[in-house]
Amino acid sequence: MTLFQAASSAYEQRLRRAEYLAGEHAFAAEVLKFFSEITKFQKSLYARIAAANPATAAHGGRPSPPIREAFDAALVLPHFRAFLSTVERYAPAPLAESARQMAAQPSDTWIAQLAEYWSGSASVQTAFGDGEAEAVAQFFPRAFLQPYAEFLAEQIPTPTLLETAKLCPLCGGQPFLGVLRREGDGGKRFLVCNFCAQEWEFRRLLCPNCGEDHERKLPIYVAEQFPHVRVEACETCKSYLPAIDLTKDGNAIPLVDDLAALPLTLWAHEHDFVRRHANLLGT
Ligand SMILES: [Zn+2]
Ligand SMILES: [Zn+2]
Repeated sequence: MTLFQAASSAYEQRLRRAEYLAGEHAFAAEVLKFFSEITKFQKSLYARIAAANPATAAHGGRPSPPIREAFDAALVLPHFRAFLSTVERYAPAPLAESARQMAAQPSDTWIAQLAEYWSGSASVQTAFGDGEAEAVAQFFPRAFLQPYAEFLAEQIPTPTLLETAKLCPLCGGQPFLGVLRREGDGGKRFLVCNFCAQEWEFRRLLCPNCGEDHERKLPIYVAEQFPHVRVEACETCKSYLPAIDLTKDGNAIPLVDDLAALPLTLWAHEHDFVRRHANLLGT
């Protein structure tokens, strides 16, 4: 299987999982339907980038530049209007209205916003404790550029690293989700990057936000409704990270199951835990 086929099937898996979860959890159906439309767009954009990008394996042997320095606006800009149309058509009303307004702006404004997000300098990225505001502010560049970032990240061989890296070793992005995978007799914990969607291994008992490592300060909560989704909280900095436990449900697709676990978000808010970095739709 080529890299491109593997990625294409990764998007297919997200779509299938979203459809399944929407059938299981009516309260998440609307969010998942919108996510599916975004995913279809991302899948086709990924295919175009893979076909056009000189960094593909077919041209192998040349070292790729660091992801954050690789932004080529001309490669993706021709597709931005179609993306805005997708959002306008399928998003909840406020977001659809934002898409309409953005569509009326000159392409220089689009380029500036996309480039700012890509560089990681957008001020909202560093604001503490307002993951939802971050999700709204960054929705357009994040959803649109994710296939591009995923594509570039997939070209980089996975580096060996410490289990304590708080930022994505491939692009410097922030972790927004955890994943537990079975390995040997136990499970290993990984963090998922909010920029390039890749995973890196991370120590199980360690808060990725403040570095707390005392077990009694790191409670874990699981809702009956979602036995494979955990809230991994930290009493010290009051942040939490949802984690998808693949040892409990091997069919889960972390990016998708996280979107559906709305009751856990409500629970965490009621208990004053803050998600530092939101998922794509701010759920
Ligand atoms: Zn990354
Ligand atoms: Zn902490």
